[in-house]
Amino acid sequence: MLQVELMTHSAEETMAKSEALGKLMEGGEVLLLEGDLGAGKTTFTKGLAKGLEVKRNVNSPTFTIIKEYQGRLPLYHMDVYRLADSEEDLGFDDYFEGEGVTVVEWAHLIEEFLPSERLEIYIYHHGDNERKIVLTPKGERYEAICKELME
Ligand code: ADP
Ligand code: MG
Repeated sequence: MLQVELMTHSAEETMAKSEALGKLMEGGEVLLLEGDLGAGKTTFTKGLAKGLEVKRNVNSPTFTIIKEYQGRLPLYHMDVYRLADSEEDLGFDDYFEGEGVTVVEWAHLIEEFLPSERLEIYIYHHGDNERKIVLTPKGERYEAICKELME
């Protein structure tokens, strides 16, 4: 199976990679972000937002669960950390099936609500500023995105 592995050495470099990914979005994509606290999930989302031409500053939606931003396409940014074990459906489908791009931090916590076609992104700590970012596409649309990203 196709997988993309990226190494970055600063927050800026991570944002440059996710900005490039953001530029490939056409609407309706679902991106799942996994990784420890401080791995860079929100940082990755900030770059992605740039690629979507979101002008507002993107920050962690931990206390609101879902934040929506306007750009070239809408960005739906979720951080479901606080929903751990609650099994609460906040109307996720409306976002996943919406015209915008959905990004979910700690996505495995709402696995039962997630679509099967998606881009899975794991961020691993490698020292203070080094990160390994692994993208695994699930579905043809996401495989195409990964191929484009590597070009
Ligand atoms: P998370 O959302 O996963 O908890 P954040 O994005 O909020 O993580 O925080 C990541 C922190 O790590 C930020 O302070 C960021 O500046 C720092 N950082 C250092 N190196 C990197 C890197 N290569 N990629 C992403 N973030 C990095
Ligand atoms: Mg975060």
